[in-house]
Amino acid sequence: MGTCDYCGSRFPLTRSTRKYCTPRCKTNACLTRKPSRLRAEHVRALFDLLDAEVPSAEGFRERLREIIAPHREPFSGGGYVPGLD
Ligand SMILES: [Zn+2]
Repeated sequence: MGTCDYCGSRFPLTRSTRKYCTPRCKTNACLTRKPSRLRAEHVRALFDLLDAEVPSAEGFRERLREIIAPHREPFSGGGYVPGLD
């Protein structure tokens, strides 16, 4: 038996490398995971953000979310952020 890394339920291991009980849990884990490493393109985007003119803290947060958490729901009321591509 293994323990699902996402929901914590016990499931029969078919391969020792399996970490999730179902493909659904694997997908959910992928969507909610907080990356501990950033891709080089994202690091560049963060540096661009440092130099960017953002209209508000919300706009900044929304741009930050787009870079490091593109799967998360956008913040509402983020407003227009220059430099979006
Ligand atoms: Zn699970």
